[in-house]
Amino acid sequence: MSARILSGRTVANALVDELRAEVERLPVAPRLVFVRASDDPASASYVRSKARLASKAGVRNETRHLPESVRQEELIAVVEELNADDDVDGILVQLPLHAHLDPEPVLTAVLPAKDVDGLHPVNVGRLWTDRPGPVPATPAGLLRICDHYEVPLEGKEVVIVGRSALVGKPAAALFLRRHATVTVAHSRTRDLKAHLRRADLIVAAAGRPGMIGPDAVAPGAVVLDVGQAPVDGVLRGDVDPAVADVAAALTPTPGGTGPMTVAMVVANTVAAARARRGDGGGPAR
Ligand code: NAP
Repeated sequence: MSARILSGRTVANALVDELRAEVERLPVAPRLVFVRASDDPASASYVRSKARLASKAGVRNETRHLPESVRQEELIAVVEELNADDDVDGILVQLPLHAHLDPEPVLTAVLPAKDVDGLHPVNVGRLWTDRPGPVPATPAGLLRICDHYEVPLEGKEVVIVGRSALVGKPAAALFLRRHATVTVAHSRTRDLKAHLRRADLIVAAAGRPGMIGPDAVAPGAVVLDVGQAPVDGVLRGDVDPAVADVAAALTPTPGGTGPMTVAMVVANTVAAARARRGDGGGPAR
């Protein structure tokens, strides 16, 4: 058997087309500001891809790059200035920050209505209490992939490997909302393979290249690979490519969950603009 390939790139392209059409109907194009307080090349490249896709969807965007000399209060002052600017719809503080900066107060300083990353505690609370609000882009993208390829979720066993605030935890909330039975595994989980073997759907988000092999996957399972780490200069997922011989469907790396994350940030910005500017837009889900 060879697994169906769930192309995140295809789903992301379709979403960007939808967003562009939505933006064209708005009186003012949404505006997104990236705040990058780091010199990390990977994070610079993430910001560039988000900016490129935002422009493609007609979302105005710019990047504030802050040097290593920036102090915590100065960074927070930048966020507050953007909060107060009525023409700014979305603020994205790209992590990681310069080593001397504490991300927590910075993320909390972002106005929840402009928090397109969905990481503000108010938005995390909204997610877990089924209220509208922005949802972190990566897990939101996973659901979008499932919906596009008509992967059934209700009553299914979903096993998520990883419990981060960025991926694992919000993914658990979203799959629960779709009536899946969710298990969240982490580094201290005993017998991970036993959990994985009974999953109808696996979300791999540990950042351990190739850690999930074909012997850990039940025949016919759907596998969404979030992990991304360079191995000898090549981007590798958490899922061993040989899983394609066992699974019913699998996201590729690259071209799987990554492009969806980028597209969902843009979707969150359009939704934030519509909600803030009061033309009836609901938040991204
Ligand atoms: P993170 O904060 O480091 O979290 C990793 C999680 O995996 C932790 O909960 C950790 O458990 C768990 N874990 C680590 N080793 C494990 C093991 N051997 N068995 C079971 N669980 C294990 O990372 P993250 O920010 O969630 O990102 C995870 C991966 O996704 C990274 O490769 C990252 O680059 C990638 N990523 C991809 C996208 C995308 O768009 N595709 C977006 C964001 C992140 P503990 O909590 O016990 O430490």
